Parts: sequence; structure tokens; C-alpha cells
Amino acid sequence: MTTTAPATAPAEGAGDIEDAGHVDVLIVGAGVSGIGAAHHLRDTFPDRTFVILDAQDNRGGTWWTHRYPGVRSDSDLFTYGYRFKPWRGPSIAAGEEILAYLDEVIDEDGLDQHIRLRHRVTAASWSTRDRRWTVEVTHCETGQRLRFTTGFLWMCPGYYNHAKPYRPRWEGMDRFQGVIVHPQRWPDDLDLDGKRVVVIGSGATAATLIPAIAGKAEHVTMLQRSPSYYLARPVTDELAVTLRALDIPEEWTYEILRRHNAARQQELARMSAAAPRQLHTFLMESIRPLLPEGFDVDKHLTPRYRPWQQRIAVVPNGDLFAALREGKASIVTDTIEAFTEHGITVSCGEEIPADVVVTATGFNLSLFGDVAFTVDGEPVDFTGHVTWRGIMINGVPNMAYVFGYFRHSWTLRVDLVSDLVSRLLATMRDKGATMVVPTLRPQEADMPLLPWCDPENFSPGYVMRSQDALFKQGDREPWTHMLEHDEEREILPKADLDDGTLVYR
Ligand SMILES: Cc1cc2nc3c(=O)[nH]c(=O)nc-3n(C[C@H](O)[C@H](O)[C@H](O)COP(=O)(O)OP(=O)(O)OC[C@H]3O[C@@H](n4cnc5c(N)ncnc54)[C@H](O)[C@@H]3O)c2cc1C
Repeated sequence: MTTTAPATAPAEGAGDIEDAGHVDVLIVGAGVSGIGAAHHLRDTFPDRTFVILDAQDNRGGTWWTHRYPGVRSDSDLFTYGYRFKPWRGPSIAAGEEILAYLDEVIDEDGLDQHIRLRHRVTAASWSTRDRRWTVEVTHCETGQRLRFTTGFLWMCPGYYNHAKPYRPRWEGMDRFQGVIVHPQRWPDDLDLDGKRVVVIGSGATAATLIPAIAGKAEHVTMLQRSPSYYLARPVTDELAVTLRALDIPEEWTYEILRRHNAARQQELARMSAAAPRQLHTFLMESIRPLLPEGFDVDKHLTPRYRPWQQRIAVVPNGDLFAALREGKASIVTDTIEAFTEHGITVSCGEEIPADVVVTATGFNLSLFGDVAFTVDGEPVDFTGHVTWRGIMINGVPNMAYVFGYFRHSWTLRVDLVSDLVSRLLATMRDKGATMVVPTLRPQEADMPLLPWCDPENFSPGYVMRSQDALFKQGDREPWTHMLEHDEEREILPKADLDDGTLVYR
């Protein structure tokens, strides 16, 4: 896709930084969240000026960064699609199909002219006197520094560093004669024909990649320290087939499928808390018949945590297990000792031969796109701040962020948060306010501050590795970040924006 500059009014005082103008709303991130936020903003406030800045050289966020073979959604697209645009494709979609869907939204809403790619936001400074943010940006290609100003900052930068994937260092990596790749940086020209491939990791990425390359490579070994949960699911959604065959409006079909699938996700999430043993048994039984005879399920596929304490990876049509059955792939469950010239040695002494090693080892969490925030000249140390409904931060004016669900489709929350932000902007307009800041009330001053994510509830590696650097949540509404869509879809639309926790000026 191409970009053109939006029409903006000139900002004051630029120095060696180029003045890039003023917009009513500045959105950081052109992924699923940023594009969704822009749609809702346009829909509710067609007259407001806005710009979407993204550091990458194309739109799509996650779906542009991850272009490894077979990349696809884990969620069904009926809930991963936006509320406002029916998904017409298969339930589980390829990365390219999701990008094409996002392109349709961009086209239909005319967002193209508002998106500026290769624009990395580095700093954001709020001035109460001027009632605006000054946002510093570096052009990723030219190095040119730019300065935007905006009345409202909408952070949609996702949760991980797109430029620097997480890759632990192992002894001997330098002497390895083969190729080491990370799924976040997949080389277009990587030839796996007849190669022995080791994929380090057991999460959704490994489960997606392995069946996609198993036919091409000589052999693929999944090397995991410990197993993850998998849910084998048919690619074809029978309800979708039935409904699409009927002569009913597409919007109805979409809404029914969304509700049906959201309820199914909710039931899994509910069971993970209320009946974890039962859910464990259900998940294990869904995969057991698909495994090769004599397969050591306890060692390789029985996780040591409660289901949903980490993401459950979907295996469409059991494709990963088919690769195991056909002998094209195998699993080694052990700890890496070192890389050798021609492979990897593990604790039991075995050497796994490899021409290509894929480190599907996850992400480096990035808080608000690693943007340096200041409020009235004071740097913001987010570790001392608390979330307001998982949408704003106390003491940080005119800033909202989008963080989707872990256990449900991310996008369900994009729509809900966007609705609330639209309501917030309308409330500001109606009150004649130019500033809104989440503020702890006197009765909340001594509220215990809890970790942003309770490890008992959800504990993926990238969150646990960075929990110390994150903002906190309180022990009561509205200072909590809810993880369950079922609760939030009731609470957020009714959330009182005049309860004293939002101070308007
Ligand atoms: C391979 C993979 C599969 C996934 N599958 C699913 C799934 O099936 N279902 C699900 O619910 N979730 C899934 N997820 C989670 C996924 O990240 C979210 O669904 C969603 O794509 C996040 O969208 P986002 O727009 O919030 O963030 P991102 O997709 O991360 O996009 C953020 C954008 O912001 C830009 N950005 C960040 N910081 C800055 C900055 N300082 N300046 C300028 N630009 C910046 C980035 O360049 C990026 O383009 C998956 C994740 C991965 C990696």
C-alpha cells in the first residue's frame, strides 16, 4: 500500500525537527488496533483530523511482521474480525487473508491518506498549559526527525517489540554452521528444501510453522523445554456453512457466528478457572486419537500448568499431529545444552542435527511502543501508575490505549475500547473540556497496587519477563484490567464516565 501525508495545520517552533503539523487525534500503530480505532473515530467524529503513525514499512502490525510459512490466526475470524465488517472467509485465516481484510477496511474508510509508515514515535510530552501532546517521531529510512502536536493520543502499538524479537543466547550459537532464523524476521529467500530443521519452542508459532514446512524439509524437530496445550479443531466451521447456505442477510450470519464463537471461547475460559482438570482432560482427549501409536503423551504433550494460564494453541484439522504421524516431524522435550557446528545438544546427551534452527521463542514485551512519556516536564515512570479500565493510565491526560484479550479474540476488545473512547471524546466535547485525566479519588489513595497481570491467572513468558516494568492495577473497578470479554461487554458500554475517577478540565 502507499501513503500520502494528511492535511494538517502547521505546529509552532520546530528547530532542527521538522514541523509535521497538528491533529485532533494521533494514533500510534497501524495494526488491527490502530486501524479499528481509526474506523471508529471516523465513524463517530467525521470532522476530526487524525493521523496514524507506524514504524514499519507496511500496515498490518503483527500480520505484516509475521510472514513465516503457514502463518495464520489462532482465533476464529468471526470474532477476530471487527464488529462493523463481516468476515467472509474461512474460520481460521492465513496472515495474508487478514491483511487483505485490513486493506478493505483501509480502502472503505479512506484511511490510506491518514497512515504514515516508517514513522517511529520516540517521545510524547503533555503540556497542561497548551492542552496538547507534542509527539516526536523519527523517520525510519531518512532519520529525519519530525514533531506532531495533538489534542489526544491513542496508543495502539501492540504489546511486543516488532524490531527486536526475544531470542535467548545459547552456548555455541556462533559456531553453528547452519542458519538461525526468528519467525519475526523470516527471510523471503530461505530455502528449506531437503533441510533438517529444528524449531525451538512449543507455542502457537511452532505449532503453525511445523506442519507448514514439514512437507518441504527433510525433517522437522520441535525442540521444547516443556509442552503447551493444543486444541485440535476443524478448519471448516459447520455453523458458518449452514448459515451461509441460507437466504439471510450477511450481517445476521456474522452476528450469530460472533456470538456463538464468543460463547465458545468464554466457556473454555470459564472452565479453565472453574474446572481446570475437566478442561485438561477435554484438551488431551481432543488430540490423543490423532497421535502416532505409542506416542509419549505424558512427556511431550502434557503441560505443567493449568489450561489457559498460557495461550492454548489451535491445531486446525490436527495438521501438526498429521506431520508427527507421517514421520515428517518429531518432538524432543529436553533442555538445550549448546549449539554445535551441525546441530544442538540437549541435556540427555543427544545431538539433534540441524541445517536450519528456528527460534520460536517469543517476544520482548514493549510498553506503549517504548515511547518516552513526560507530563508537564516530568518523565512518567509507569511502574508507579495504575490502569483505568485497561484503557487509560492515572495521571496521564488525554491518552487512551488499546490492549486486546489474551483468551478471546484481541479485536473484540478493539471495538469495545473504541466505543468507550468515542464516548469519552463526546463527553469532553459536551462539557467543553480540553483535558481529561484519570485520577485516584481520596478513598482509593491507599488502594493496594497489584501486578498488571496476576501470574495465577495468566503467565506467558513475555509478560512474566517484563512484569516489573509495567504499570499496575488496583483491587477494584475502575482500576482493573479485565481479561474476560463476557464481563467487559456488559461493563464497558455502561461505564460511568462521570464517577469522579475521570477529572475533566
Ligand atoms: C503470529 C501471531 C498470531 C496471532 N494470532 C492471534 C489470534 O489468532 N487471535 C488473537 O486474538 N490474537 C492473536 N495474536 C495477537 C496479536 O498480536 C493481536 O491479535 C493483534 O494483531 C494486535 O494488534 P495491535 O494492532 O494491537 O498490535 P500489533 O499488531 O503489534 O501492531 C502494532 C503496530 O504498532 C507499531 N508501533 C509500535 N510501537 C511504535 C512506535 N513507537 N512508533 C510507531 N509505530 C509503533 C508497530 O510497528 C506495529 O505495526 C497473534 C500474534 C502473533 C504474533
